[in-house]
Amino acid sequence: MRKMKVVKVTNANEGGQKAFELLKDCLAQGKKTFGLATGGTPETLYQEMVKSDLDFSDCVSVNLDEYVGLGGENEQSYRYYMNDHLFNHKPFKETFVPNGLAEDLVAECARYDEVIATHPIDFQVLGIGENGHIGFNEPGTSFDVTTHVVDLTPSTISANQRYFASREEVPTQALSMGIKSIMQSKQIVLLAFGEKKADAIKKMVEGPVTPDVPASVLQNHPNVTVIVDKEAASKLN
Ligand code: PGA
Repeated sequence: MRKMKVVKVTNANEGGQKAFELLKDCLAQGKKTFGLATGGTPETLYQEMVKSDLDFSDCVSVNLDEYVGLGGENEQSYRYYMNDHLFNHKPFKETFVPNGLAEDLVAECARYDEVIATHPIDFQVLGIGENGHIGFNEPGTSFDVTTHVVDLTPSTISANQRYFASREEVPTQALSMGIKSIMQSKQIVLLAFGEKKADAIKKMVEGPVTPDVPASVLQNHPNVTVIVDKEAASKLN
């Protein structure tokens, strides 16, 4: 039996509002550790958080990923994105993002695993790649990995090129929280908007659970809500 709950919305604004309602419920239960994501998809959720009167100064955030080679002052870095979209407006007690400038990337992955272990995630926000990735866990990634160094696929580089002046400037590697850690989050809310996500959503919800579609692993998680607009839901039965 499929456990994934699918909520259909009219657009990204309504999707952000729905996700925000779930996040508020979580806060009301005293849960304070949020796994956060970057990209175009969660922007409306962060807008809702910013314009709310909620106080997050007692909360902790643990982000999914960061580009290798970009520091927090670089506008394309995910640290910069998080500060700009959320933390500069709503301060958190502590915010964690992998360090893309770490000299020893393997040690940085181990450090980040420790961050996740000491801050178990109550509520994980996810987007989904056109190729079915979650975080930067690209197709073929084992479900057993924790934080790791990723070689980004051509599909992901193409999708993210829109934020950079040229394709050559898109980093080719990233540090990403692993699927194993994502699956340990107590609650997961995945958002997807637009027709480009329709194939990935169909495979995630209705296809077999396979590393070829990393997001399909979420079928094995007991508390997942998928928030999709009409276009992203258009291929679902
Ligand atoms: P997007 O990226 O929100 O910019 O579409 C989602 C993802 O790649 O996970």
